[in-house]
Amino acid sequence: MVRPRAVTLSETHVGIEWNDGHKSIFANKNLREACPCALCQGELNPLGGSRMLPMVPDVSADVKATQYQLVGLYAIAFAWSDGHSTGIYPYDYLQARCECDACASRRKK
Ligand SMILES: [Zn+2]
Ligand SMILES: [Zn+2]
Repeated sequence: MVRPRAVTLSETHVGIEWNDGHKSIFANKNLREACPCALCQGELNPLGGSRMLPMVPDVSADVKATQYQLVGLYAIAFAWSDGHSTGIYPYDYLQARCECDACASRRKK
């Protein structure tokens, strides 16, 4: 199973090095906006698969992750500089959003 080997937090990015050698990067703001918690994403639309609009539209451009915590064997919880800390990011969710050059170009195709 793929797990993080190292997590780095910076002013601009969150970096995750996985134990398969892949190095993911995520812009802080993008990752904050992708917060999967119910508050940020809204509950699942009962009529279909689409989600309601996020409840927290105003993510400041300079938001950054201040802390992280591994959750079980499947996810990472981040605490953000805007005080939000309830989002738990499963590893596969993170990998699907990886912004490294290889993943970004593969996704464009
Ligand atoms: Zn959230
Ligand atoms: Zn990648």
